[in-house]
Amino acid sequence: MLPVLYMVIPCYNEQEVLPITAPMFLGKLRQLTEQGKIAPESRVLFVNDGSKDATWDIIRSLSRQDEHFLGICQSRNRGHQSAVLAGLMEAMDRCDITISIDCDGQDDINAMDEMVDAYGNGYEVVYGVRSSRETDTFFKRFTAQSFYKLMNKMGAEVVYNHADYRLISGRVLKEFAEFKEVNLFLRGMIPLVGYPSTTVSYARQERLAGQSHYPLGKMLALAFDGITSLSVKPLQLIMGFGTVVATLSFIGVIWALVNALLGNTVSGWASTTCIICFVSGVQLISLGIIGEYIGKIFMETKHRPRYIISERTWDDEK
Ligand code: UDP
Ligand code: MG
Repeated sequence: MLPVLYMVIPCYNEQEVLPITAPMFLGKLRQLTEQGKIAPESRVLFVNDGSKDATWDIIRSLSRQDEHFLGICQSRNRGHQSAVLAGLMEAMDRCDITISIDCDGQDDINAMDEMVDAYGNGYEVVYGVRSSRETDTFFKRFTAQSFYKLMNKMGAEVVYNHADYRLISGRVLKEFAEFKEVNLFLRGMIPLVGYPSTTVSYARQERLAGQSHYPLGKMLALAFDGITSLSVKPLQLIMGFGTVVATLSFIGVIWALVNALLGNTVSGWASTTCIICFVSGVQLISLGIIGEYIGKIFMETKHRPRYIISERTWDDEK
C-alpha cells in the first residue's frame, strides 16, 4: 500500500511568496504520485497563522482550484511552532506520513524524494539538514550556528542544522500527540519520541519573496525558550556558579580574619564594593532564570489549547 503524504506548510503574511511556491509544492506532490511513491490521496495542507494580509484568501482560492490543496486557519497569530503543530495534528488521522516545510521556498523540495525513500526503508522520522548556508549572510550563518552549539551545550538536544523541515510518520505523530506541553519547541521534542530516524541534507536557498519573520531578537528568544523548555541545565549552572563564588568568598573571609588578627587592617573599600555589585548582579540573573522556569510552569498549569482552528477549506464546500 502506498503511503498517503500530507505536506504541512505554515504561512504567516506570505501573500508575495505563496503564489510562487504553491504550484511548486503541487508539482512535487504530482511527481511523487506519478513515480508511485505516494498515494493519490496525498495533499498539500496550508496552515494560515492568523495572517493580516491576503494569505488566507489565496489559500482558499487555491483549494477551490485544485482538490490537492487544503487549508486550515488559526484563529489568530500564534507563532510558527503552533502553526506547524496545528497542521500536524490535523493531518495525523488522514495520512501515513507528513512533511513539514516553510512556505518561502528556502527548503529544497527535491529533498522530499529522499525523505519518502527513507520512510520506505523503515525510518519513521527524517530530518532535513542544511548542507550549505552560502546564501545566508555571514551574520545570519554565524548566529544560526552558534544557536545549535549553545542549545546542545545547554542540554537541549537538537539535530545540527535542522530546522523544521522533516518527515514524520503517522505512528510517531500519534505518540507525539501525548506530549501535552504548551511551550513548544518541536525540533527538540520530536527526537524525544524516539523511533528510527535519519537525516537528508539539502542546500538552503534564499527566500523567493517576502521577508523573514526571524530577526536576531526572535532567534535569541527562540533559543532561550528552547533551552528552558527542554532542559534544566541553566539551573544546574547557577548552582555550580553559586558554589564556586561561595567557596571563594569563604577563603576571602578567612584571609581577612587572619589579617585582622595579625593587626594588619584590611584595605580595599573599592574591591569590596565591586564584589558586592558583581554578586548582586549574578543573583539577579539567577533569579531571572529561575523566574523563567516558574513562568513556564505557570503557563503549563493553565492547560490552555495550543492552537485554535477557526476555519477549514473543506468546510467551505458544505
Ligand atoms: N511563520 C508562521 N508564523 C509566524 C512566523 C512565521 O507560520 O508567526 C511561518 C512563515 O510563513 C514561514 C515559516 O514560518 O513559512 C518560517 O518563517 P520565516 O521564513 O520568516 O523564517 P526564517 O526562514 O527566516 O527563519
Ligand atoms: Mg524562511
